[in-house]
Amino acid sequence: MTVAMVASEMFPYVKSGGLADAVGGLCRELSRHEETIAILPLYRSIDCERFDIHPAGIDFSLNLGGEKFNIKVYKCFDDGCETYFIHHPALCDHEQLYDCPDNDLRFGIFAHAVCELAANHINIDILHLHDWQSALAAPLAKEPYRLRCRVVLTIHNLAFQGIFSKEAIERLNLGWDRFTIDRLEFYDKVNFLKGGIADADAVTTVSQTYAQEIKHPDFGWDMDRFLRTHEDKLSGILNGIEASEFDPASDRALSFPFDNRHIGRKQEEKHVLCAHIGLHNSHYPLFAYVGRLAEQKGIKDLAEMLRSIADVPINVVILGSGDPYHEALCKPLEGRENIRVILGYDEALSRRIYAASDFFLMPSKFEPCGLAQMIAMRYGSIPIVRKTGGLRDTVIDFTDSSPHHPNPSAGMGITMERTDIVSFMHAIIKALALYADREKHASLIVSNMKKDFSWRRPVMEYLKLYRALKPF
Ligand code: ADP
Repeated sequence: MTVAMVASEMFPYVKSGGLADAVGGLCRELSRHEETIAILPLYRSIDCERFDIHPAGIDFSLNLGGEKFNIKVYKCFDDGCETYFIHHPALCDHEQLYDCPDNDLRFGIFAHAVCELAANHINIDILHLHDWQSALAAPLAKEPYRLRCRVVLTIHNLAFQGIFSKEAIERLNLGWDRFTIDRLEFYDKVNFLKGGIADADAVTTVSQTYAQEIKHPDFGWDMDRFLRTHEDKLSGILNGIEASEFDPASDRALSFPFDNRHIGRKQEEKHVLCAHIGLHNSHYPLFAYVGRLAEQKGIKDLAEMLRSIADVPINVVILGSGDPYHEALCKPLEGRENIRVILGYDEALSRRIYAASDFFLMPSKFEPCGLAQMIAMRYGSIPIVRKTGGLRDTVIDFTDSSPHHPNPSAGMGITMERTDIVSFMHAIIKALALYADREKHASLIVSNMKKDFSWRRPVMEYLKLYRALKPF
C-alpha cells in the first residue's frame, strides 16, 4: 500500500504550528510500515540546499479559469519518506504562509497539482489530506481526475475551513454543479473543507473527544449539522509526538538533560532558565505557557487569573506570539517581577521552558488535540488543562478517585471544567499543594515521563482505517 500525505506544512521543512509536527511525525512512523509519500508546496522559505531538494523531472501545466499555470515538481528523500514539492510562484512566493488574499487560488493550484501528480506520475492507494489547504483534492480526485485511490481527510482544527468568494468556482474549474449545500456551498461562499468532507471516504479528527465535540453547535463552527450527516465516516485518532525529537535526555537545547531517573536535574535547569530570563526566587514553582497567543488558547482567562494572584509566591513564563489583541493582554503582565512574557517564536527556548517548568498551563477554549501538553509531560512539567478535546483525552486529574480513562496512555495533571477565575484559582491551589508534597509531585513527574505519547499507537489506528477502506 502506498500512502500520500498531502499538507501545507510538515516538520522539518516548514512549520507554523502543530500541523507540521503532526504530519512530519505521522509520515516518519508510517513509513516503517507502508510506502509513504508526502506532498507539500515548495514555499520560498524552504531551504532546498539543506534538505537536498532537487527537480523530480516532472513538469506539467494546469489550465484554471482560462489561465495557464506551469507547475514544476521537486523532491527529496529523508528518513524513509519520499517528499514531493509542488512549485508555482503563485502558490509559493509569499512572505506569509497563510495570511494572503489569494489563498483560494494558491491552494486551488496545490490541490489540482496534487491530483495531476497522482493521476499521471505516481501510484498511490491512499490520498491522505490534511486540513482545508489540501481538502479540495477530495472532490477533484473524483472529477475531473478520477483517481483510483481512497481519500482520507484529517481535520486538525475546524476553526479554519478555507472559505472564499464563490468566484473560486470558475477560477478553479470546480463546476457550478458542485456549488450545493451538501458539497462546496457555505452561506453563498465556497468552503474547501466542506467540499473535502463531502467527498472523502473517511474523515478523522485528531482526538476522540474532538470528533464528538465538532458535531455540537458549541464547537461546530456552523458545520455541526453537516458533520452529523457524515458521522458514519467520522472518527478520532489522537496525535502522537516524536519521541526521539522531544526527549529531555538528549535535547541539545537543555543545559541539564535528564531522564526519569534523574529528575533532580530539572531543578538545575530551572535555576539556569530563571537566571537567563531574569526571574528571581527560582525555588518558587514555575508555571509556563508556550503557544499561540490566540482566542482559542484561553489567553484572556489566563491573563485575568495572573493579574489577580499578584501576591502568590510563584514564577510565570509565557512564550508565544499571536494577534495584537492577545499580545497586548499579556505584555502588561511583564510589569510584575515574577512574570516574564517573551513574544516571538523560539524553538530552543520552548524546550528549555518545558524542561524547567513545574506546571504547564493550557486553559484552551477548545483543543482538537494539543501537542504542548504531551511535550510538557515528556519533560516532567505537570499540565493544568481545561477538559476539552485532546486535553481531555490525554490528561487525567491526579485527584480523580476513579481514574478510569479510555486512553491507556493518558498522563496525570490538573483538569478544569471551566477557566473562570474561581476554577482557575482552584487549580492553582491544587498545584501549590502538589508542589509542597515533594514525593507525590516527583512520582507524577516520573509516571508522566514514562508514558508512551509516540506515533506508534496512532499509526496502528491509521493503518486499521486505511485497510478498512475498500481498495479501488
Ligand atoms: P497549535 O494549536 O498551535 O497547533 P499545539 O499544542 O498542537 O498547538 O502545537 C503547538 C506546537 O508549536 C508545540 O510544539 C509548541 O511547543 C510549538 N510552539 C507554539 N508557539 C511557540 C513559540 N512561540 N515558540 C516555540 N514553540 C512554539
